[in-house]
Amino acid sequence: MRIDLHTHSTASDGTEPPSGVVESAARAGLDVVALTDHDTTSGWAEALRAGERLGVRVVPGMEVSCLAHGVSVHLLSYWHDPAQAALEGMLDASRTSRRTRARTMVERMTADTGLRWEDVLAHVHGQATIGRPHIADALVAAGVVADRDEAFATLLSGRSPYFVPHTAPDPLEAITLVRAAGGVPVLAHPAASKRGSCVGDAEVEEMVAAGLVGLEVDHRDHSDAERRHLRALARSLGLLVTGSSDYHGTGKRNLLGENTTDPDVLQELRSRSGGAVRAESADRAAGEVPGS
Ligand code: AMP
Ligand code: ZN
Ligand code: FE
Ligand code: FE
Repeated sequence: MRIDLHTHSTASDGTEPPSGVVESAARAGLDVVALTDHDTTSGWAEALRAGERLGVRVVPGMEVSCLAHGVSVHLLSYWHDPAQAALEGMLDASRTSRRTRARTMVERMTADTGLRWEDVLAHVHGQATIGRPHIADALVAAGVVADRDEAFATLLSGRSPYFVPHTAPDPLEAITLVRAAGGVPVLAHPAASKRGSCVGDAEVEEMVAAGLVGLEVDHRDHSDAERRHLRALARSLGLLVTGSSDYHGTGKRNLLGENTTDPDVLQELRSRSGGAVRAESADRAAGEVPGS
């Protein structure tokens, strides 16, 4: 059983529509694929339908952009209720800020590159969550850079004069809202240092206190040494360990199924989903000694 719990579609910055991601998953021989677009669940319905058609189990997920005191943190959430107002309000604020921020970045580079906001919008599908990859695609189409990699290494890098951050919730707040919506939070690529600074072990421990359930350990942005460290950290904090591709279609080199998650872990993740009240009473039933 092959399980990949982290992929992106055109609902955010992947290059294939949600149904296309599931088709690619079937072709790659996956039994289970999670769709985890940035800050949106708008691809769920299409992906779930494709999964039924193709005999692939689709796990509805999302990757929440967070900022922990200036450090970018990505939080995966699975099976949360997308209708939960507090969670959706937080996501809506992030999506709006992402759009404003992208527009500001483009305005900063117009004089130097000729790129205009309309050029970027031509690469955004409908109401997709906008990210730097969409600016990258417009820069590629305009012949300014060769591919997304070159764009991220130059004009779009965090050190570029054109770079603008977007607002995002603290991970502790995001974890709380995901759990309140019945979701299962897993910290994405916690040690991907080439993307920028990462959170330390003490911050992960705080996230566990807030309700974090797992760590994405097997990810191409982690070295062997980082994986060993994260596995030990997960063991000491009682966290589940996942592995996944972070597939973006042709937008990144990551290939479906290049890292996978154990079937027992998937089952355990699923068992942690559900309403906050239900989870609490389940914890009580399982753990606490009455009257102690
Ligand atoms: P943003 O969310 O707008 O800050 O853009 C960061 C996102 O761009 C990451 O979550 C990745 O999905 C994607 N990304 C980062 N580096 C690259 C790269 N070199 N090539 C393609 N996509 C990238
Ligand atoms: Zn992405
Ligand atoms: Fe990420
Ligand atoms: Fe991702």
